[in-house]
Amino acid sequence: MICWLGGAPSPWGAPGLGMLRNAAMDFAPSLDEQAFRTSVRGWLSANLPSEPYPAEAGERVAYARRWARMLHGGGWAGLAWPREYGGRDLSPIEHLIFAEEYADVGAPPLIDIGVGPALTGPTLIHHGTAEQKERFLGPILRGEEVWCQGFSEPGAGSDLAGLQTRAVVDGDDLVINGQKVWTSYARYADWCILIVRTNPDAPKHRGLTFVLLDMKTPGITIRPLVEMTGVAWFNEVFFEDVRVPKKHVVGEIDKGWDITITTLSVERGASTPYPRLAKELDDVVAMGRRLADDTPKIADPRVRQRLAKLATEIHTLRLTVLRSVSQQMRTGRTGPEGSILKLLWSELEQRLMETASEISGAYALLDEHAPQAIDDGRWQYGLLWSRAASIYAGTSEVQRNILSQRVLGLPRG
Ligand SMILES: Cc1cc2nc3c(=O)[nH]c(=O)nc-3n(C[C@H](O)[C@H](O)[C@H](O)COP(=O)(O)OP(=O)(O)OC[C@H]3O[C@@H](n4cnc5c(N)ncnc54)[C@H](O)[C@@H]3O)c2cc1C
Repeated sequence: MICWLGGAPSPWGAPGLGMLRNAAMDFAPSLDEQAFRTSVRGWLSANLPSEPYPAEAGERVAYARRWARMLHGGGWAGLAWPREYGGRDLSPIEHLIFAEEYADVGAPPLIDIGVGPALTGPTLIHHGTAEQKERFLGPILRGEEVWCQGFSEPGAGSDLAGLQTRAVVDGDDLVINGQKVWTSYARYADWCILIVRTNPDAPKHRGLTFVLLDMKTPGITIRPLVEMTGVAWFNEVFFEDVRVPKKHVVGEIDKGWDITITTLSVERGASTPYPRLAKELDDVVAMGRRLADDTPKIADPRVRQRLAKLATEIHTLRLTVLRSVSQQMRTGRTGPEGSILKLLWSELEQRLMETASEISGAYALLDEHAPQAIDDGRWQYGLLWSRAASIYAGTSEVQRNILSQRVLGLPRG
């Protein structure tokens, strides 16, 4: 049980949400918050899919589409989106309560629905035309259209503005040639948020354009890239004379960097997965107890100290999230906490998975296909996948650069 935001037992006697609104430490959650938690819990326990979460990537996307449709039907889609666009307009605190309950019941990862709800939707709400909002927001909320993100290129990742995929205006269309890489979900996506260079003579941040690309357009070739987990989420995407109507440009031609900044800040500020990490820590401890006679790692004082340290770090992470939410509610802005949080949770996830592997001993060598695999090979997969956490949405080095310059005021290196 990981419900720490009031209303349920807390392993550390954590304060409730009242403290975010009052200078005095009010540990009791408000009646509205309790009622909200109860309604989330009730709906999830009544509607959680009984079918197992599939292993194959395409089946996972199909599963995620069905689950997204159910969430929408239950009124649990677009929690932070304004009501006029079909959202719930919930507060950041209600968002956190939802995330806690969601992780606690082990609901399926929402990531498999692609970047539509998390990135495309908020970007269009800020910058889209009325026609674009009308066309795209509803299908995103209902899980009808999966989106991918065509930003990174072989020569442009951390330095995104250096991208070279070229587009020229031809009548009512843009014609695109070039290549993207690391495009998650591209094979399953209906649409792509894509950044292209429309003015190669302008300074690198000025000649970019942000477009919405139908992934069924002729001229697109997608090649899967297999990760070390054995799954091929990633893809290379090649464009050869791909035509995009100008009505699918977001903002203005050559002014796409402003739009991109919105998408990147939404991505970096995306909710920190501390409820999931807390649940995973509980599951690692449970696994250690189960294996105690077989692989007595859980009795090793060094391992126990690492588990205690991880528990402390997750608690620290949670408090930093609450501080960030508190600031957002008071000022409407977030500070550099986005970078602090990204650094904390991504590197913590890696340490958690390393500890899980150590506790599972020789079983850590078995993937989900081995009959003796522990927890369906979950910890082996988790260890391999966790390496990605400190790369996507801005690498650890980039986050440290941001913090050293904007918080510590150090000169650029
Ligand atoms: C799981 C996952 C999913 C992804 N999904 C997508 C997606 O759907 N769409 C998409 O467009 N991209 C996606 N990416 C790509 C991701 O955005 C890039 O990998 C990331 O931006 C880093 O870029 P790069 O790989 O080109 O590395 P580089 O930018 O080349 O960095 C290489 C190394 O140099 C370091 N470095 C770079 N610049 C600096 C600096 N100024 N100071 C100090 N160190 C520096 C980096 O930290 C890193 O260690 C995904 C990546 C992962 C891991």
